[in-house]
Amino acid sequence: MLIYNSATHKKEELIPIEEGKVRMYVCGPTVYDNIHIGNARTFISFDVIRRWLIASGYEVTFAQNLTDVDDKIINRANEQGRTAAEVAEEFSKKFIDVMHAANVMDPDVRPRATKEIGSMIGMIKTLIEGGHAYAADNGDVYFSVRSDPTYGEVSGRKIDDLMVGARIAAGEAKRDPLDFALWKAAKPGEPSWKSPWGEGRPGWHTECAAMVHRYLGCPIDIHGGGSDLAFPHHENECAQATCAWHEGFANTWMHTGMLLVDGEKMSKSLGNFFTLEEVLEKHSAAALRLLMLQTHYRSPLDFSWERLAGAENSLGRIAGTVKNLVWATRHAEGRPDAALAQKLDAAVLAARDEFERQMNDDFNTAGALAAYFQLVTDANTYLDQAGSAVDADAATGAAASIAGAFKILGIELPEPEEELPVGLLGVAAGLCAYTGDDVSEAAEKILAARAEARAAKNWDVADAIRDQLRDMGLVIEDTAAGSRIKHA
Ligand code: AMP
Ligand code: ZN
Repeated sequence: MLIYNSATHKKEELIPIEEGKVRMYVCGPTVYDNIHIGNARTFISFDVIRRWLIASGYEVTFAQNLTDVDDKIINRANEQGRTAAEVAEEFSKKFIDVMHAANVMDPDVRPRATKEIGSMIGMIKTLIEGGHAYAADNGDVYFSVRSDPTYGEVSGRKIDDLMVGARIAAGEAKRDPLDFALWKAAKPGEPSWKSPWGEGRPGWHTECAAMVHRYLGCPIDIHGGGSDLAFPHHENECAQATCAWHEGFANTWMHTGMLLVDGEKMSKSLGNFFTLEEVLEKHSAAALRLLMLQTHYRSPLDFSWERLAGAENSLGRIAGTVKNLVWATRHAEGRPDAALAQKLDAAVLAARDEFERQMNDDFNTAGALAAYFQLVTDANTYLDQAGSAVDADAATGAAASIAGAFKILGIELPEPEEELPVGLLGVAAGLCAYTGDDVSEAAEKILAARAEARAAKNWDVADAIRDQLRDMGLVIEDTAAGSRIKHA
């Protein structure tokens, strides 16, 4: 399996540190507000990467933090007259709920910064002892960037270039403008913890290094996040961990491309965002995932509502094909054409191979999906050509393969309904007692099912609905104003 390592700018073969096992860490959200679909793109990308590693037989341990103490949380709490802990608790819960709604798997470990202060203080102490960090007179502790000869290797930066424009801001007690805060002295009204340097709280970069070390052990196989985190966040995480423990930090760095709206990065500060929650109120998680996965995870992704509606339509077509394959199998009549069935079997194998090849090439979900779009086309051709003489094994094999591939990507297709028209006709039996021309709810459902079948050119289903109604003494009357069900 090849994975693009953004630290080396190369695709590299995945060679896990422990055979058969992959330890991965993906930076989680700062919980001060609802996440937007840009954030979601990163989390969904890593969910799919994790799912593919699992499907490939690896035992994956996946850790993701919640940054529950931070300037943004404190500011939000002050604006709203609440405590930072209340704000963090609300949005941690909302994040977890909306990840479930997006069908993102829970991490195996989800550490929270405020519960990890002890291990962070331990790491900072080790860094001070090793000459990589220093406590300033005001109670801040800084990491000394020049003490790390490998600084810049994660994000491909050079120290000299970083010096350009680097400044020490008012109130900072750094010795060198490149240094960054590991620990910040408490300010009045802010959450704080006791430390050897006085009351304070950790800097943002501190938590991930300490958590990776505590929960996964250094080095790990994969460290991920959005490309905007490569510098300074990941660079600083790596500097702390390598200088504290000298074991290396992450073998592979993976960074997702940004989700854009009208060519600009979706972000809270630009105000050009849609929350994941509001998008999932209008569209299915499956459609959102399909839209996202049609672009490679490292490329920028242009979001628009039109594209999302398009993905919803594609999903309907794919689900329709699976449904038709299942329905045609149940209603098969006559001797199947062996040559046609073999062709369908071959198309299933080709799709499966191509899917695997594309996913093993740096998780190319766009290519993997294309293979299955082709299989959907092939399956529709098969259904057209086979008529009612459908080969049950070939058709159910194709249906299972399509549904299975989408499931690996976390895209759940709607289950084919049990005998769609017959189930509805069960409800319709009640219609026999019904007189007059009012169209009841049951009749509306039946008419909608027939209209759907006709729109999909699924004539067998449409005819079955008509025939079975007739057996019950009912007819469908199509008028210019629409269709209705009447007693014959
Ligand atoms: P934050 O809470 O700001 O740390 O963001 C959480 C995750 O979302 C990080 O991995 C970011 O890199 C990622 N992220 C933020 N904005 C976008 C975007 N527009 N597209 C993709 N990922 C993003
Ligand atoms: Zn991090």
